[in-house]
Amino acid sequence: MPASAIAVEGLSFEYPGVRALDEVAFTVERGSVTALVGPNGAGKTTLLRCLAGLDRPLLGAIRVAGVEVLDEPRLVHRRIGFLSDVFGLYDALTVRQCLAHAAAANGVAAHKLEETVARTAARLAIDQKLDARAGELSRGQRQRVAIGQALAHEPEVLLLDEPASGLDPEARHSLAVLFRGLQSDGVTLLVSSHILAELDAYSTHMLVMRAGRVIENRALHQAAEERRRVRIELAAADPRLRGILQAVPDLLLLESDERAALVELRGDVEAQARLLAALVGAGLPVSRFGEAREDLHASYMRTVAEAR
Ligand code: ATP
Repeated sequence: MPASAIAVEGLSFEYPGVRALDEVAFTVERGSVTALVGPNGAGKTTLLRCLAGLDRPLLGAIRVAGVEVLDEPRLVHRRIGFLSDVFGLYDALTVRQCLAHAAAANGVAAHKLEETVARTAARLAIDQKLDARAGELSRGQRQRVAIGQALAHEPEVLLLDEPASGLDPEARHSLAVLFRGLQSDGVTLLVSSHILAELDAYSTHMLVMRAGRVIENRALHQAAEERRRVRIELAAADPRLRGILQAVPDLLLLESDERAALVELRGDVEAQARLLAALVGAGLPVSRFGEAREDLHASYMRTVAEAR
């Protein structure tokens, strides 16, 4: 089985007179949650539609969940779940019927439909609305049904275009919890959104697009053996802080005064634990000690600025 859940090579797509994707190439690790980000018009929706086998590119190769999408677009529909940025529901059907229809269309056996609908409705917190018609739902409730339709058949890969749009803060938080749960079940997610703070809560990787190209594709969190930045603050100034830190092996002092410091430390969390023990052991009043990682927003702004 290939290691990557999604592999794209030389992908170009054109609308009349507009090259929306220009030789895009990237892979997405199995079991990761990748934030697909980029300015308006970067090509995110076009890319997701090509991955889902809904639009046919000019050139390129796309493999999703082990399926060559251009050769077998119908097969890929069963292996993936796709949420379009603009979607319609069958307004005359009840939520129960919408979910059952989506699951059946994607290969769930008739005798498993009832259980599938109940599980999906509970996951999206729409179980109280199962007998309401889709046409009678609020925008956020419709969004939940659409996400439910995308994941009812338990796909290996989920492609979601702006899934949080229209959701209230509680539902957005539940969505983050849902995505983390899906990831721990081994599902691979590619999620486009402009709400970077939310993506940061559950993404493991970041794929940045600009003007039809991928300009960055990387893991968001550092591997255990890499250097980590740690911020230290004291409740009261202590002139010994700098000297104590300078004596710690494998530590680089980036900023410091008598009350706070930012250091770079080689090693895993145990190296952090040893550093904290050394500071407290020396009698310093440590009030804050934590990893200072670059969040997705800062990382995205840096990538886009560098690409200009
Ligand atoms: P947004 O963040 O605004 O949703 P996006 O990154 O999803 O943007 P796309 O919708 O993929 O971007 O659009 C990529 C490019 O293709 C844009 O230049 C857009 O104008 C163009 N485009 C998109 N859809 C069409 C269409 N149906 N016909 C012609 N051009 C299109």
